[in-house]
Amino acid sequence: MKILSKNLIKLRDIKTFKFKKAMINYQHVEIVNHFMKKPLILVINCGSSSLKFSLMDPKTGEESLNGIAQCLLSDNANISFKVNGEKQVLALLPPFDHNTAIVELVNFITKNNLFEQITAIGHRVVHGGEKYHQPTLITPQVKNEIAKLAKLAPLHNPANLVGIEATEKVFSHLLQVAIFDTAFHQTMPEKAYIYGLPYNLYQEHGIRRYGFHGTSHYFVTQRASSLLQKPLEQCNFISAHLGNGCSISAIVNGKSVDTSLGFTPLEGVVMGTRSGDIDPSIIFYLVEQLGYSLDQVNTLLNKESGLLGISGISNDCRTIEEQLLAGNKRAKLAIDVFCYRIAKKIASFSASLDNLDGLIFTGGIGENSNTIRSLILNQLSLLGFKANEQLNEEIRFGKQGNINDTTSRPCWVIPTNEEWVIAEQTQHLLINKGM
Ligand code: ADP
Repeated sequence: MKILSKNLIKLRDIKTFKFKKAMINYQHVEIVNHFMKKPLILVINCGSSSLKFSLMDPKTGEESLNGIAQCLLSDNANISFKVNGEKQVLALLPPFDHNTAIVELVNFITKNNLFEQITAIGHRVVHGGEKYHQPTLITPQVKNEIAKLAKLAPLHNPANLVGIEATEKVFSHLLQVAIFDTAFHQTMPEKAYIYGLPYNLYQEHGIRRYGFHGTSHYFVTQRASSLLQKPLEQCNFISAHLGNGCSISAIVNGKSVDTSLGFTPLEGVVMGTRSGDIDPSIIFYLVEQLGYSLDQVNTLLNKESGLLGISGISNDCRTIEEQLLAGNKRAKLAIDVFCYRIAKKIASFSASLDNLDGLIFTGGIGENSNTIRSLILNQLSLLGFKANEQLNEEIRFGKQGNINDTTSRPCWVIPTNEEWVIAEQTQHLLINKGM
């Protein structure tokens, strides 16, 4: 400061000094802002006519924004954003596709001054086959593999790729990571994933059980191990992800050893609109005796069966429960079949375990329906489960906790957070690769 004595400084110097000082202050503000701004991961979950997104702090799971573009490729295409609990819906412009949705998303992110905080993009990819059991940096070669795997997941992988390519166009400066839904189940032993079919169908065509909902099962088992305060590598659980799609998994030493979804997400327990396990001969009967085409059988098993097919009312568990209370017999039957099949599957997984630390419920139904949980637990008394009805009623709508009676094995409700797993694993991959 000494050299700034008025006598020594000309007007031009003063201006320069002020400017420099201003620059220093500006830089200081930038640095402070830089430290205040959290790095965020953009999580993309792209379906054939929808694109879900979340902008998330991978450390805390806190979302700066989330939303969904729906009814894509139709005139009703729209996108909704949720920031600080406030929702905003915009109609999308022609051609109403995934690219239009991404452009609107980028506009919104930019308007909210969040663009520069995004450090990477994590994509949910449904099928990683046997090749991908880890989060994977997306390269042209990985995209080719995801495209090849579309023959195993024709509804999902092409849509996931559309999301990746639409995102790449606008975020070309950022790395993109694929998190595969099948990855967590790649630890299943052969005896759990080989079908009772000629072995060459597996060797030559990859026909085996893969399992899905991996990120959800992974998230809730991690949470359950912290609730138990026991290292995950020493924990054995059965987790039940019950949403529109449902899957049960057996976890030994923190790793998946069996799961109810198989070659596709059609196998296993009864779901919202999917049949789950049926005698395969029913398909021949439908085609040969009842004149169904293969397309019709596909639609029947995937979209017209399950809770919807049995009840004839809805695939939505809330609606069926309302009808159950109103005395509707088909609603009761749908719920009875649904719960019995789930209880049977849980019991069957006792063959995979030599001890069990507890049962976990998650997914829209698992997190919210005390009726379904109670019916399932009541059918598992031989395995030592009993619900505490008061806790079971209380732990809903985003709450986490035990719902078992003191005499019962532990049973928890744990709200899933697949987006957080994707954000976290994307961040880890970048750190591990030194990026
Ligand atoms: P998805 O598989 O599409 O992600 P979700 O995990 O969102 O599905 O679960 C959707 C299911 O959760 C629907 O069947 C819905 O009825 C059910 N659900 C949500 N809230 C409740 C509730 N309060 N009671 C019963 N079922 C509920």
